Amino acid sequence: MDRMREVGELIAGVREALRAMVEPGITTLELNAVAEKMMRDAGAIPTFIGYKPHGMVPFPYAICASVNEQVVHGFSNDIPLKEGDILSIDMAATYNGFVGDTATTIPVGEITDELKQLIRVTEECLDLAIAECRPNNRVGDLGAAVQEHAEKFGYGIVRDYTGHGIGRHMHEAPQIPNYGRRGTREKIRAGFVFAIEPMLNLGTHETKTLDDKWTVVTKDGKASAHAEHTVAITPGGPEILTLTREQKAKLKKDKSERVSA
Ligand code: MG
Repeated sequence: MDRMREVGELIAGVREALRAMVEPGITTLELNAVAEKMMRDAGAIPTFIGYKPHGMVPFPYAICASVNEQVVHGFSNDIPLKEGDILSIDMAATYNGFVGDTATTIPVGEITDELKQLIRVTEECLDLAIAECRPNNRVGDLGAAVQEHAEKFGYGIVRDYTGHGIGRHMHEAPQIPNYGRRGTREKIRAGFVFAIEPMLNLGTHETKTLDDKWTVVTKDGKASAHAEHTVAITPGGPEILTLTREQKAKLKKDKSERVSA
């Protein structure tokens, strides 16, 4: 668990460095290069590079960079991001034999209120799923929490891709769908670590894959947002591993202020 904490903090630092760089004019190839360098300088391996599920071509980049209607697994390129775009970045690192996985959707300059809400609700869905990460709850409770919230806004919930267990490998059992019924699927126990990752679409939940065999887009071309944390289940509840030291300190402070209030 200590090693999972280390890699979680490491990858969170990369995520926040990229967040600070996103602005109109920057390219996803530039962001990818920074992410790869940060991971390697820290002694970590970019887990995505060369990742090759059965029957697939190896993934070529350190990050998945998915713009607007791209849902996940987007390739980095030299097209400058423009004002009003949203960029979903998904990334994973392997360090000391353990993997951390995180994703976030970042506005490029000023974006529409419609897109702001999509990003906000996606993050709220992630928080609600994390709150369900308690021993003796079930994996279906996480999906139900995401689904209940997302459907209030009429968003399409991506079904073709799910969260997952994580540890020595990026993708371990169980699958963690972003929809479902409470009280169903695997029982959660202390010591489990999950990568939880709701993906919400403005329109249909349906997706298709482009000719590059990786990039997933919404079928109707409407925008999609993504949020992911690696979360450990402790006897007392969830511990988010993919936070920077500063974010952890702030979370602790907010919690103690809530208690004293
Ligand atoms: Mg993941």
